[in-house]
Order: sequence, then structure tokens, then C-alpha cells
Amino acid sequence: MGDCESVIILGSGCAGLTAAIYLSRAGLCPLVFDGNQPGGQLTGTSEVENFPGFPEGIDGYELVERMRKQAERFGAKFVGDSAQQLLPHENLHEREITLSGQTQTYRCSALVIATGSSPCKMNIPGEREYFGGGGVSTCATCDGAFYRGKTVAVLGGGDSAVEEALFLTRFCEKVYLVHRRDNLRASKIMAERALANKKIIPVWNAIAESIDGDGKKVIGLTVRNSTSGERSQISCSGVFVSIGHRPNSEFAAGVLKLDPHGYFCCDPKDEVLSSVPGIFLAGDCADSVYRQAVVAAGMGARAAIAAERWLRTG
Ligand code: NAP
Repeated sequence: MGDCESVIILGSGCAGLTAAIYLSRAGLCPLVFDGNQPGGQLTGTSEVENFPGFPEGIDGYELVERMRKQAERFGAKFVGDSAQQLLPHENLHEREITLSGQTQTYRCSALVIATGSSPCKMNIPGEREYFGGGGVSTCATCDGAFYRGKTVAVLGGGDSAVEEALFLTRFCEKVYLVHRRDNLRASKIMAERALANKKIIPVWNAIAESIDGDGKKVIGLTVRNSTSGERSQISCSGVFVSIGHRPNSEFAAGVLKLDPHGYFCCDPKDEVLSSVPGIFLAGDCADSVYRQAVVAAGMGARAAIAAERWLRTG
């Protein structure tokens, strides 16, 4: 077991890194867990157009890299680990929180949980079989360039799906946007942009039933029309699943309160306080409503300030 840290931050996305900037500037040398996806969801985003301060937009990866450097400049330390289990507090008055990582156990006096969320899966035949090199992906920024000149399908109707579809038009000849309803959930500006793009072909009221392949690679997607019940196959060599995210909170189940969808429950008086004193929440793991980078950053700052006050009153 390592030394008792004053404060540990779980997650190195926008929320965790902002908390790290604040806590390191306060002289608390936080230990930041990189987590399963270092840099968080922004690393899989192409252009971020709505983060204040970047009138021309900024590449998502570059944005988190800048935040990380800013935290390191003030003394934040990073560890390539992810939380496996948060252990119940035996004695809250001792102000000692214990959690297990992949290979070792950590102790701290305050904890900021900023573990974000992970892409949801469709759980349909072919999805798992062809995931990765076979043609199924959850990240157009990461894998889009492999589909140059090809036809792909994006599943979903929210901002993420629309953003993925628009990004894929840079490489692909045709992008089917397959949505289970007849209008997009995405924001108006994004939806209009997608529907005006000639390479994007919306497929409405389409329930994806299976991702079909030749044993090695994806060759198509079978969809059922929810109105007529008719089945058809869309020929494509890639399928990008973009149907939302689920919070990364399993490691704390049984210790912290979770809502029915797995989001951390916040204190009704302050959304960065968890159900256990000394444990603070930030970002998408505790925000089922806004889920924006700038909101996650704001929560990270608030969680850090709350953690610092908690440590100071110890
Ligand atoms: P989302 O808004 O929850 O949308 C998920 C989409 O997937 C919905 O259209 C939903 O259909 C569909 N879906 C869910 N489960 C499905 C299933 N089993 N089968 C088929 N379709 C399914 O998630 P998101 O697009 O990831 O966005 C999350 C948040 O991030 C939002 O607040 C969004 O505004 C924000 N975001 C913003 C930007 C930006 O501003 N640049 C970019 C990306 C994300 P229904 O519509 O029928 O429910």
C-alpha cells in the first residue's frame, strides 16, 4: 500500500484535469489516475467549437493536452492506473479513504471522482465480433481515416452521432446516419449541418438488428423499419456506434449512492458532494443532464475547491 496522499483524482478528462489544476495550484500535489481512457472523451472528438476561449475551435486532444500540462506545471502527479474498487470507510473520523487500483492499494484524505462515461453498445449480433479492426467502432476520430473512399453507417441521432457522421464525410464517400426515430435528438445547428451535407444519408425509423460480415470484415447492417416492419440491408464497410454513454461508476457501487442509470447521486445542496464526506464528484459520471466539456471543467473546479476546504477544516 502506498503513502496516504492528501488528495487523489480519479480520471484525466476535462473534469479531472481542471480539478488537478486547482488542487495543484493550492499546493496539494494531487495524484491523478489516468483511468481507462487517458484524456477522457475529448480525445476522441475532432473539433471542439463550444469551449470558451477558442473562437476558431480547438482539436479535442490538444485541449486536454494543454490542461494536463497546466496541471503538471503546478505539481500534479499522474499515475497510469484506474480505480477497481472503492472500499467502504471504516472510520470516517480518521479521514482515510482506501481504494484499489490495478496492482496496488491507495489511501487518501480526500477523493475527487471524475471517471466520466463510456460509449454504450448496441448489443446486437456482429457488434462484438467485428469490433476494432473488423469494422465496428465507437470513435470516428480514431478510426475514420481507415474508411477513405468507403461507405459507412453511423448509429444514433444525438450530437455525438451527428458529429461522427460529419467527421466521417472527410474520408468516406457515403455516410448513412441510421436513427430509430424520424427526427434527430441533436442540437438544431448540428442537425441542420448534417442534413445539409450531401454525403450524409439519413435512414429514419430504422432499428439496427445486426452488423453483418464475411467472417473477417463488416459488409453491411441489417435494419428493420419500425413503422412498416420491413427489413433491409445497408451495404457498408464500417459501422460507428454512437448511441450515448454510461457512467463509469461500478467501482464505487455499494459505497456511494448511484441513481438507477448508474450516475453518482449528488448532495441536493451541492452537486459536487457525494453521499460520503471527503469524496467529491465532477463531470459526466455525475451529470446525466448537461454532459458538456465546459460543464465538466466547472464541476472539476468546484469539486477541487470543496476538497481543499474539506482538507483545510480537518
Ligand atoms: P444522446 O444525446 O443521449 O443521444 C443518444 C442517441 O442514441 C439518441 O438519438 C438515441 O435515440 C440513440 N440511442 C440510444 N440508445 C439506442 C439504441 N439502443 N438503439 C438505437 N439508438 C439508440 O447522446 P450523445 O449524442 O452521446 O450526446 C451526449 C451529450 O453530449 C448531449 O448532451 C450532447 O448535446 C453532448 N454532445 C455535444 C456535442 C457538441 O456540442 N459538439 C458533441 C457530442 C455530444 P433517441 O433520440 O430515440 O433517444
